[in-house]
Amino acid sequence: MTGDDIDVAANLADVHAAIADAARDAGRKGDDVTLIAVSKTHDAAHILPVLQAGHRVFGENRVQEAETKWPDLKQQFADIELHLIGPLQTNKAKNAVALFDVIQTVDREKLVHVLAKEMTKQDRHPACFVQVNTGEEAQKAGVLPDDTDGLVAVAREAGLNVVGLMCIPPFDEEPSMHFALLRTIAERNGLDRLSMGMSGDFPVAVTFGATHVRVGTAIFGHRAPPPSA
Ligand SMILES: *Cc1c(COP(=O)(O)O)cnc(C)c1O
Repeated sequence: MTGDDIDVAANLADVHAAIADAARDAGRKGDDVTLIAVSKTHDAAHILPVLQAGHRVFGENRVQEAETKWPDLKQQFADIELHLIGPLQTNKAKNAVALFDVIQTVDREKLVHVLAKEMTKQDRHPACFVQVNTGEEAQKAGVLPDDTDGLVAVAREAGLNVVGLMCIPPFDEEPSMHFALLRTIAERNGLDRLSMGMSGDFPVAVTFGATHVRVGTAIFGHRAPPPSA
């Protein structure tokens, strides 16, 4: 289903309930898990009902697309927390620092240094997650597991407020081992936030310790396919 026949407020409630169930099963509290509503490809009209339902934490994967809708929405709803969850090019770092409250896709030294410079310049300091390519997939963003400790150290040294790690497991693999690996790397780096789990696997991620789940389809319905090239 796409479009106007979707009851996003009901979907939101269902996702919250599923998070609470998974948390309880794991001896955790649902409140310890932050639900990031991933609104990429959806316009302000589709996001509005989720805001009106009281939700304030959102994720977008493209800086440019986010700039078309969130400055206005942030004016209407003061306490929005916007997460960047897509790959960040250094030439977009300035705009990303200006708009986003959390940047989840820090994955290389060059980006660390460009972000650090921008944050100082703008005196704006979004919290950062380091994205880890747990599946070591060639086409995927993220630092390799073996290089993560080094990048976390570089980012801290540069003054970034590193709060956690983020991963996107390979689509065709059972995600548990990836969630477990992310948690292990976070623990040895003294990081307590884990951004992992999407519509298809967020309850599993919660049992493995996710503090942030990124859920799009289960709230907004299926995204329209990108315009054909
Ligand atoms: C799109 C996206 C999501 C949400 O995916 P769904 O399967 O629609 O829940 C989560 N994380 C990232 C990084 C994404 O790009």
